[in-house]
Amino acid sequence: MNVIFLGAPGAGKGTLAEPIKEKFNLEHFSTGDMLRKERASGSEVGKLADYYMTNGLLVPDEVIIKIVEKKIGECEGGLLFDGFPRTVEQADALAKIAKVDAVIYLDAPLDEIIARVCSRRNCPACGKIFNTRTYSENTCDVCGAELVQRADDTEETVRKRYEVYEQSTAPLVDYYKEQGLVHVIISGDLNENVAEASEILAKL
Ligand code: AMP
Repeated sequence: MNVIFLGAPGAGKGTLAEPIKEKFNLEHFSTGDMLRKERASGSEVGKLADYYMTNGLLVPDEVIIKIVEKKIGECEGGLLFDGFPRTVEQADALAKIAKVDAVIYLDAPLDEIIARVCSRRNCPACGKIFNTRTYSENTCDVCGAELVQRADDTEETVRKRYEVYEQSTAPLVDYYKEQGLVHVIISGDLNENVAEASEILAKL
């Protein structure tokens, strides 16, 4: 089973992906995480991606599609796509290499997205996502590493990323609706969202 989590940056895709991937034994396929690893390793792809990521822009389709084709080839089980596809061109490329069984569209208003993203903290060691509105420690409760704030998690960049989302990624909701694959979840309480997503995926 291959599932896409679609939604604006900060809609909660990564947070919801954690429990859902465990429950349904899916591999979390996050192109944002892949790019951050490339950037940290200092690779050519990472250096190229850095400009786009820092400025809240999309990394060019041909770069992303090449990375995704290589990574999908290395995966064996079902995949949970988080942050991919982000353009119609990427969705067309995905259709050629994998069957999509469901698209969960996480809907969230812009003011909530801004509040959430600006208070988001990440564990650089295990990747767990925290929020200062609900978690007051500055170390990870799983591995103890000091939490960091992503450089692109500022209000200015979030507004830019949201604009890019509206223009390039939001059309994918209709793209996948035409294929009868879209299920809408209003992003909110995590336990409720996990229950809703589980109910949808259990029926597939
Ligand atoms: P994310 O962690 O998914 O919010 O991604 C962080 C940044 O990585 C985005 O703002 C983009 O610059 C880049 N990125 C991640 N996934 C993609 C994608 N599928 N296409 C283009 N750029 C991407």
